[in-house]
Amino acid sequence: MKTLTDILMRAKRVAFFGGAGVSTASGIPDFRGTDGLFRREYAELTPEMILSHSFFFLHPDVFFDFYRRYMLHPEAEPNAAHLALAALERSGKLTGLVTQNIDGLHRKAGNRLVYEIHGTVHENRCLDCNRFFSLDWMLQTEGVPHCPDCGGVVKPCVTLYGEAPDPYAMTGACREISGSDTLIVAGTSLAVEPAASCLSYFHGRELVVINREETPADDKATLILRGDIGEALESALREAGLYRQPDAFR
Ligand code: NAD
Ligand code: ZN
Repeated sequence: MKTLTDILMRAKRVAFFGGAGVSTASGIPDFRGTDGLFRREYAELTPEMILSHSFFFLHPDVFFDFYRRYMLHPEAEPNAAHLALAALERSGKLTGLVTQNIDGLHRKAGNRLVYEIHGTVHENRCLDCNRFFSLDWMLQTEGVPHCPDCGGVVKPCVTLYGEAPDPYAMTGACREISGSDTLIVAGTSLAVEPAASCLSYFHGRELVVINREETPADDKATLILRGDIGEALESALREAGLYRQPDAFR
């Protein structure tokens, strides 16, 4: 039987496609996993309702209350999964990292080849004058945040349901996936479109799925791992001799 270690050792161009499950070990709940946000406090609502484009404009106060409480985790640190993916990029094997996550943890872990197809909480813009605001600025506001220059509402640069993903990131994501020989899909229910459709661009040899629950990609996978993403990636990278620390003097 093939293992993730064998696959990584043979691979030349690895692409990664991940979701909220990559960040659960950093203390950020996913949406649809067994401990997911919409299976607990918000069981009567769906993410498609409260995080939608129309809800943002109809009930901005409720939107921002939810957003600050559940989507902003400035204290979160990269976990073993993020660190293993940063090591895989340093090894030269990882050529593109596509994430649906908005938490910025892949960049914090040191990855550079990141395509954040649903944007990031680190960027916010005034809807009227387009002025940029940081996450720190957002954290200091209360209620619906307004631009100090023009009074316009400041919206996080994250893709809400009913909005199109960042076209630049989507194009890059599809290009990296179509050029890869190995694709690792991890921590995602693949329930969100058009993000999940990126996978149809994969024509490589090995499709690896690492997810605690079944996913629609399982049928096509050459390897399915049902355990924790961080544990699976870190142990495979160590066995393959690909887990090197960053060069301190670079
Ligand atoms: P999802 O909640 O629909 O699915 C997450 C999947 O990951 C589940 O199947 C769960 O079983 C699995 N999982 C959770 N922890 C795991 C672990 N440690 N090891 C292995 N598997 C694990 O997530 P989604 O498909 O990404 O869709 C949710 C949407 O909302 C996406 O756009 C997502 O980015 C966004 N979101 C982002 C964050 C974040 O930025 N961290 C958090 C919640 C939701
Ligand atoms: Zn403004």
